[in-house]
Formats: sequence, C-alpha cells, structure tokens
Amino acid sequence: MTLRNRVSVAAAAGVLIVVAAVSTALYLFYAASLRSRVDATLVDAAQQAAGIARSLKQSGGRGSGTVPDISTPVTVGSVQVQLIPGPVTPGQPNRFGPLDGHDVAVAGQAQPAYFADEHHDGQQFRVYTVAWADNPGGLVRTSRPANADDGALRDAALLLAGLTVAAACLTYGAARLTAGRILRPIGELTEAAEHVTKTRDLTSRLGFPQANDEVGRLASSFDTMLAALHESLTAQRQLTADASHELRTPLTSLTTNLDLLEDGAGLADPQAPALVRAAREQAAELDQLITDLLDLARYRESPPHRETVRLDLLTEEAVRRLRQREPHPAIDSELHPCLVHADPAGLDRAITNLIGNAVKWTPEGDTVRVVVENGQVSVTDQGPGIPDTDLPRIFERFYRAPAARGTPGAGLGLAIVGGVARANDGTVTVRTGPGGSTFTLAFPPLPETD
Ligand code: ADP
Repeated sequence: MTLRNRVSVAAAAGVLIVVAAVSTALYLFYAASLRSRVDATLVDAAQQAAGIARSLKQSGGRGSGTVPDISTPVTVGSVQVQLIPGPVTPGQPNRFGPLDGHDVAVAGQAQPAYFADEHHDGQQFRVYTVAWADNPGGLVRTSRPANADDGALRDAALLLAGLTVAAACLTYGAARLTAGRILRPIGELTEAAEHVTKTRDLTSRLGFPQANDEVGRLASSFDTMLAALHESLTAQRQLTADASHELRTPLTSLTTNLDLLEDGAGLADPQAPALVRAAREQAAELDQLITDLLDLARYRESPPHRETVRLDLLTEEAVRRLRQREPHPAIDSELHPCLVHADPAGLDRAITNLIGNAVKWTPEGDTVRVVVENGQVSVTDQGPGIPDTDLPRIFERFYRAPAARGTPGAGLGLAIVGGVARANDGTVTVRTGPGGSTFTLAFPPLPETD
C-alpha cells in the first residue's frame, strides 16, 4: 500500500471511529427521549380516567339498555386506557395477566404508580399502572405498543449510519487529495533516488528548493550525501590511477634491466652487477611504495589500538635507526620525557617520515634538529624551504613538488603523517622559510606518572 493510501485510510478510520461513537450516543439519547415521551403520554392518558368513566357511564345510559362494562379498554389517541374498579384483589384476571400484590398495593396507594414492559398476544407493550383517584381501591392502566416508535428509531439509525459512512468516505477523499499534495516532494525524492541508483550518476543532484521542513532537509542531506559519495569515489579512482602510475615506473625499469641481462651475455656481462644492483633498488622502491600504500590505508581510519607511549623514547629509537643510514646524517636531538595516548606503530612511522624528509632536504654537512617536549615532536631541517605554491598540497597523496621529482619517494610520506595525526587526535603543522622548515606533530600530552 502506498504511503498516500496509508495516510488516507488512517485518517478515514479515525473519523469513522469518532463519528460512529457520536452517532451511537445520539441514537441512544434519541431512543431514551422517545421512551420518556411515551411514558409521559401514558401518564397523561391515565389522568383522563375520570372523563373516560363518565363517558362510559353516559353511553351506557343512552344506549340499548345494556350496562357497559367499565373495565373495557378504551382507546385514547394511540393509548389504550383500562379502568379497573376497586377493590382489586390479587390474582384478579387482567389483560396483561392476573393482578399481583404490588398492583393491589398501588391501588391502595401504599405503593407509587409504576411502568412495566409487558408481553401480550405476541406483542410488546409499555404499561403504566396507577391508583384510580375517583374510585378508591381501583386501578387505571394505560398501555401502548412498544414498537410504535420503531419506524422513527430505524430511520434515525439509518440516517446516522449513512452520515458515519459519508463522513469516513469524505475524509478518505480529502485525505487522499491533501496527502497527495504533501507527499509529492517525497515521491519526487524517491524517483530521484531511484534514478541515481539506476544510472549510478553521482553527479546528479535533487536541487530541491531550500525548505526548512523535513522533506527539504532530507533532500539537502541526500544531496550532501551524494556529493560526499562522489568525492570519495573520485578520490578512490584517483588513488588507484596514481598508485598504478607510481607502481608502473619502477616496474618498467625493473623489467628493462632484467631484459638487458637476458639479452646480453647474462651474468657474465661486465655490466651485470650494476644491472642487478639497479634491479634490486627498483624492487626495494616497489616494496616501499606498497608498504606506504598499505600504511596510508591503515592510518586513514581510526588506529587499531592506542596506548600510553613515551614520545621521547619512541623518537629516540627512530633517530637511532635513521642515524645508521648511509651516508650517516647529522641529527641533533633534544628529547624531554613526555607521554601521549597514541598508536605506537603509526607514531613511529610518522616520526620516521618527518625526520627522513628533513634528512633528504638538508644539505650535507648541515644538521637536522629533533625536539620532543609537551606531547610534540618538532623536526627542523636546513633545506631550501617549501614554496608557497606547494605548501597547501604537500599533505595530499602522491603530491610531489617539482623540485622533488628527481629524489626518491612517491609523495605518500606526508599523507601518512597527516593520517596518523588525525587518527590519534593530533595535528601536524609546518613553518617554512628560505633557511629551512619545521614540521611539528602534536598530541594532547598526558600527565607524567612516576
Ligand atoms: P616525497 O618525500 O615522497 O616526495 P612526501 O609526502 O614526504 O613525499 O612530501 C611531499 C612533498 O613535500 C615533497 O615532494 C616535497 O616537495 C615537500 N617536502 C616534504 N618535506 C619537505 C622538507 N623537509 N623540505 C622541503 N620540502 C619538503
């Protein structure tokens, strides 16, 4: 069932319940008022007992000489009036069965007049029994068929039922019209989403007019989500293209060197050792690139595990490893004990990348300076600095400044540093000038514990 139908049916059902309840109450009220009107008619008729008795006697006096039976029921309008002269006795036969003690008590005015529903000749009657005031010990009984108002009641029931059904139908129609208008944007939104699913076109936008209601917000969130998806997909494609390109370069050199070895005199060729060395370097470059790509993927998300780390000791170890490189670089370090909460492997990788870059860009004979304090690692080189045009892009994946094209690397080192910083609630900043650059990796420091 469509949303529009569901809303309309719910509205119609609500109205049906309310109107049916009101109609039932009205019907019961009408039935009760009809009954009290009947009762009033019976009481009125009973009050005419004296007049009826008089006319009965007169008609007997004028008539054929037969004495009229005073207890013969007389019809007044729609009511039958029966006079029962006193004294009445229990068991005395009557139209509605023999009189009982209660009737005798009413006749003697020991009990008040009363109404009863009686069955006679297969018909239901409303009966009123009251003491006959002009005939002590006697009774007046007025009665009326109980079904006299059935027609009116049936008409009222039909009218109310018709009204109830009509109200429900009208509500359904009105709700369908209104729901159609209210839900139209949702329908359009659904179609647009289906279009995107079918065409896989993440550049399309719903372009709904800016509205502050739920549908407007949903549409704008949908557009934002599409844009984010598109951006992520483009970045993924770019990464795949860049990675393929970067992997192909050393692979081509490697294949060329192996071809040369194969085509020449093989390992007996005097060029062979140089070719093998070059091939090994290219294989190492490939290996480094693959490691960088894996690290980049790993440190982009939240780190696998974080622990309390001595930043100074971790940096000391990275410096020690780098100092062993050929030719031995000059690294000057000032390491103050401090603790941070971070992923040790990621941190080690980031610090190694920063010091490695500084060593790469510092001219031989000059010194790289590494300082650790207050949850921060600062690496300062004496290189040429970073041009303003490159500065905004150096943390992008695969970005290499034109000046760096001749040096080893694939442009992933700083992207990994940025990923590690983000994943560990840290930041990385750079200050640069003609005399060199300082990269600072900062984390919230933890209080020292002994
Ligand atoms: P790679 O070192 O492989 O080129 P990185 O991501 O480590 O890749 O660095 C990106 C770019 O940032 C480098 O190509 C270089 O232009 C610039 N860069 C990074 N570190 C320094 C530095 N210490 N001094 C000058 N330029 C730097």
